[in-house]
Amino acid sequence: MPEVKLKSGRDKSIRRKHPWIFSGAIDSVRDIKSNGETVEVISADGKLLGYGSFSNHSQISVRMLSFDPDNKPDESFFKRKVEDAIKFRKNIIDQYSTNAYRLINAESDNLPGIIVDKYSDFLVCQFLSAGAEYWKNIVVNSLIELLNPSGIYERSDVDVREKEGLPKTNGILFGKHPDALIEITENNNIFLVDIINGHKTGFYLDQRDNRKTISDYVKDKNVLNCFSYTGAFSVYALKSGAKKVVNLDSSEDSLNIAGKNLTANGFTINNQFENVCDDVFKYLRKLRDTNQQYDLIILDPPKFAESVNQIEKASRGYKDINLLAMKLLTQNGILFTFSCSGHITTELFNKIISDAALDSGRNVKFTKFLTQSVDHTITANFPESLYLKGLICNVD
Ligand code: SAH
Repeated sequence: MPEVKLKSGRDKSIRRKHPWIFSGAIDSVRDIKSNGETVEVISADGKLLGYGSFSNHSQISVRMLSFDPDNKPDESFFKRKVEDAIKFRKNIIDQYSTNAYRLINAESDNLPGIIVDKYSDFLVCQFLSAGAEYWKNIVVNSLIELLNPSGIYERSDVDVREKEGLPKTNGILFGKHPDALIEITENNNIFLVDIINGHKTGFYLDQRDNRKTISDYVKDKNVLNCFSYTGAFSVYALKSGAKKVVNLDSSEDSLNIAGKNLTANGFTINNQFENVCDDVFKYLRKLRDTNQQYDLIILDPPKFAESVNQIEKASRGYKDINLLAMKLLTQNGILFTFSCSGHITTELFNKIISDAALDSGRNVKFTKFLTQSVDHTITANFPESLYLKGLICNVD
């Protein structure tokens, strides 16, 4: 079997079951024939530490599949991992009120680089690493056998594939072609999801728990939903008694679906909601200059920091919108603010919001700390799995 030997002292993170081996930790490689192939991982003193997928191109040269020398990955290994991931979701997601959630969360489910999201009876996959691509057919067959979906659609049209030496790709892997909009239910709310052209695999499933949390804060409030995408927070807000909600997004297509989602849940445009297509940075300034206020503001921007080099610029972006939002809030206003940039740590995010609070001149209390929904598992051995951070602030 192909083999990767580590440099002396570079096995520490593997012994702590961290799944990544960076190229700098590798002493030598032997017999590797193809990108994504499974290798034995050997310590400097010759001990077999486990098995991983080798990537020829990535800085992350090996992604560990098994830390057990007696558990060598084969077809049945992958089926068992898929089965485990499905079982875990059955326990943590209420299957009656919600039929869309993440089934497989890559490294956190011991399936590096593999994302599978369920949208009703459709599955949407991303294969993000060379190892994931290598085992793709086995994983797809396991999903068919275990779940019998109507269709499986691939959305591997993401930049990280290029770092792995893989072309971007999307299309049907199994079953029927998805409808232009698939209807799902989330906590008994109806949403329409464009799995072919939508962001990520179509919907921000990672915000499900936070959308539910907002229900406790919105009664009789005027809500501004910044970076609204398809209006998911807005549906929850109106369902829980918000007076009016404004969806603000720079994408006309997303706002069109937002309109459909709000209508599907029984709300009417102008009466209960409005769609504003504009840049959040600019629109918040317009609101400031015309003295407009809101009782509750949501800031759920896209990833501002795609890499370590962008942390500083991203921090300025987060501070800017948070400072503006704090100033626009009525007395005792509520701010729901998020960062989904993995490179922005929880400490840094809290610091940015604290700096914005200071500059705003308002009295700001952090009343709750938020993170990604439970199906986007955060595992103890893989701190990188925590990427979504959120704060609920009371702004006096
Ligand atoms: N809160 C949403 C997800 C937000 S995703 C949910 O729960 O579903 C981020 C959104 O920000 C995308 O819809 C994108 O179109 C929008 N966006 C990105 N940059 C923007 C900008 N500068 N101004 C307005 N919207 C922007």
